[in-house]
Amino acid sequence: MKNLTLENIAGACGGAYVGSDADRSREVADIVTDSRRAKEGSLFAAICGEHVDGHRFIPQVYAQGALCVLCEKAPAEAQGPYILVESTLKALMAIAEFYRQQLDIKVVGITGSVGKTSTKEMIASVLSEKYRVLKTPGNFNNELGLPLTVFQLTEEDEVAVLEMGINHFGEMHRLSKIARPDVCVITNIGTCHLEFLGDRDGVLRAKSEIFDFIAPDGQIVLNGDDDKLSALKEVRGITPQFFGIEHACAIRATDIENAGLKGVKCRIHDGTESFAVTIPIPGYHMVLNALAATAVGRALGMSLEEIRRGIEKLQALGGRFRILEAGGITVVDDCYNANPMSMKASLGVLADAPGRKIAVLGDMGELGENEQQLHGEVGRFAAGLDIPVFFCVGALCRYMAEEIRRLSPEKQVITADSVEEVLRLLPDSVQKGDTVLVKASHAMHFEKIVEALTK
Ligand code: ATP
Ligand code: MG
Repeated sequence: MKNLTLENIAGACGGAYVGSDADRSREVADIVTDSRRAKEGSLFAAICGEHVDGHRFIPQVYAQGALCVLCEKAPAEAQGPYILVESTLKALMAIAEFYRQQLDIKVVGITGSVGKTSTKEMIASVLSEKYRVLKTPGNFNNELGLPLTVFQLTEEDEVAVLEMGINHFGEMHRLSKIARPDVCVITNIGTCHLEFLGDRDGVLRAKSEIFDFIAPDGQIVLNGDDDKLSALKEVRGITPQFFGIEHACAIRATDIENAGLKGVKCRIHDGTESFAVTIPIPGYHMVLNALAATAVGRALGMSLEEIRRGIEKLQALGGRFRILEAGGITVVDDCYNANPMSMKASLGVLADAPGRKIAVLGDMGELGENEQQLHGEVGRFAAGLDIPVFFCVGALCRYMAEEIRRLSPEKQVITADSVEEVLRLLPDSVQKGDTVLVKASHAMHFEKIVEALTK
């Protein structure tokens, strides 16, 4: 890895190098936290996890050929060099910060309350039409995931598309310090993680820490339909580029047309130019994500034709509005996560789907003290939609069920306490031709429902 010699690594993280002088100038081949992935030339970072202490595997990684170990406790019998630090996690962050600056690469940093991963995928799909792109794998967006993503970068990569997720003040500042974004994207300011950030203004303040280390000639891409973001007229001397559907933004969409579960069609405008595109994943929010990607593509000098091609090549990830067909039933696998905003977006798409519609919904976590009201609010929204059958699963979803029943007594609303209970009840309700949306917070483990429905 470029300039990641043991000497520089120890310097970057303020660690104590213990080993031969000859090894000081050797570069590591990669940085791993999973001992099974340690190989010739690796730096193995020993992390004390909840269940396992990585230090246990130190003898094994040396045997596998690892060049060096980054650790908090000196190995009993060191078979090679090691760097002793107070916190391996903090050291990884410092090393990632150093490494990112060794690379001549453009970084796109993405944050926001909802839609970070979806937007990251869209942006990466677009930028891949012109550049060699590395994107955050899955949801590796936190203080461990971001460094590990940065370590995947090589000198051949031209652009890194990095998802940055937080739930406390100060965290985004640290992530920004690592990423040093050239382009910052904020998808929206919602109501997640309110228990740590207070209210939406707190969320805005916390997310805005992404600008703390933006490049001096950096660019900012913001959702102009979000009232909190659209108020940011200038940030650190930079005028943000706004995208939006409802408001008159430079990058905007018109002619939005639902193409059912096949996706959504629209016309995207940048000033006076425009193009028509079919986004292969449905949902109004996907139009916003395509607009964000258009803004980023433009910021990095792409033509509208390149951007259009990139949008059309987008692929769905498991758990994120992935459409599965099995035994005559269409299953919308959206079980990766949920909050009021995304729940409403997905219900809106389901309501327009063909066949009889069934929504299997589970508790939304981390909503703070208003969690009951927020579930009720989704219930009121759902009551007005063309969805005749609801399964509401979990203690909080009872508040959702109550509102649907109160406002729409003709709907069939079934409550359940657990996934197991749903799995017993569901087979009697689902028929050929139905479209079933499966959505809840990750902790509800609704992937088991998706699995059962598609078996
Ligand atoms: P996490 O905090 O778990 O990393 P995230 O911000 O990465 O979440 P995604 O996983 O991209 O969010 O999306 C979560 C859900 O929100 C998706 O399943 C989809 O239904 C919906 N969604 C995607 N993009 C948007 C958007 N721009 N606005 C609102 N909802 C969206
Ligand atoms: Mg994510």
